[in-house]
Amino acid sequence: MKKREYADCYFCGGQVREKKVDVIRHWDGRIIMIEDVPAGVCEQCGERYYWGAVSEEMDRIMRASEGELQVKRELRVPVVALAAT
Ligand SMILES: [Zn+2]
Repeated sequence: MKKREYADCYFCGGQVREKKVDVIRHWDGRIIMIEDVPAGVCEQCGERYYWGAVSEEMDRIMRASEGELQVKRELRVPVVALAAT
């Protein structure tokens, strides 16, 4: 796949390069990890930028029913509270 070009980071002005990242989305009581998402990642601050089509595809995944999802594997996620606040 051809790498996309990204503008410099909006926040820090750093160089943004395309990488494959894992994205964890949390919406409507559901948590989904989407693997190998092409994103522009700022080399200085780590901010991520997604192209419209990539973002739309992630939104589509979050709206999909259980049956429509192509689940590769499942993770166990520990839920903890702070000991003191
Ligand atoms: Zn940055």
